[in-house]
Amino acid sequence: MRQMEAPTPAMPDAEACWDAFLRRDRGLDGRFVGAVLTTGIYCKPSCAARHPRRENMVFLADPQAARAAGFRACLRCRPDEVGRDRLAVEAAVAFIAAAETPPSLEQVAAHAGYAPHHFHRLFKRETGMTPAAYARSLRTERLKNALEEGGSVTGAIYEAGYNAPSRAYADAERHLGMTPSAWKDGGREVVIRYAERATSLGPVLVAGTERGLCRISFDEDVTDLRQRFPKAEILPADARLEGLAAQVEQLIDDPARPLDLPLDVCGTAFQQAVWAALRAIPPGETRSYGEIAAAIGKPGAVRAAGTACGDNALVVLIPCHRVLRSDGSLGGYAYGVERKKALLEREKRA
Ligand SMILES: [Zn+2]
Repeated sequence: MRQMEAPTPAMPDAEACWDAFLRRDRGLDGRFVGAVLTTGIYCKPSCAARHPRRENMVFLADPQAARAAGFRACLRCRPDEVGRDRLAVEAAVAFIAAAETPPSLEQVAAHAGYAPHHFHRLFKRETGMTPAAYARSLRTERLKNALEEGGSVTGAIYEAGYNAPSRAYADAERHLGMTPSAWKDGGREVVIRYAERATSLGPVLVAGTERGLCRISFDEDVTDLRQRFPKAEILPADARLEGLAAQVEQLIDDPARPLDLPLDVCGTAFQQAVWAALRAIPPGETRSYGEIAAAIGKPGAVRAAGTACGDNALVVLIPCHRVLRSDGSLGGYAYGVERKKALLEREKRA
């Protein structure tokens, strides 16, 4: 019996390919290669090398086709390794997710067939997280799910794959910003301070715990905050939070200026990965939802990545406004597309 050929996604048309090269679109790496007639070299779309003139570039479905046409692989972007690297990272993500307790870097790398140090870098490049951070965030997500389903805190901790409760509490403090008991109960025993500011883009709520900012949102006030954290003690800003709110206000005026403020956000492992990928987009640049999904190692999860962008807990500070639709149009924004447009224009001017 003849084997069926696996369907492969069609490569984009030549203009879309050229655009992908101009944007250095990593999300399209592996979908096609671009070959330069003058140098005889082929590259993946994200290659950092200078772009040739448009008329000197042709696009081919894959490295094999490029080699068959007499081109050689670029030594800088190593276009032949894209598929292999991505498959290895996908395999590692599945391996970590299936493990009862987080595997060591050596175990993950061996499973993927790479040297540990090299694989660490590769995993981080593809997902925006280290393998250990990914394993931790998965475990935190499991713990949170187990707690939300009810049952004892201790039972949930063991179910989530922790060896000992103390480790779980330390992890949860770092990732959820709250101890599991507090998180279980709508933020009980957590003090959240808030400030309401009138900014150049309208009213903004800035809220934070003693560890960092937990909520920045347009058009919300303390009532919304109380609904979000019904058991928390909600208090007006102290001097520290006033200072943070002032910095947030400046960030809205000048979103291109990098600010390193303390964060204390609650989110699932997936949301945290998406938000980390958003924070990695340099000011003035944009990405598509597909690129964000690819950046966290889940190229199929475009819609879920879009939802996680929309659930952003810290507007502007986590720059979900830098994500556009793949056709380059603005797409949506939880607080109105006019604000997204304004933020992007401010970054472009800077
Ligand atoms: Zn290249």
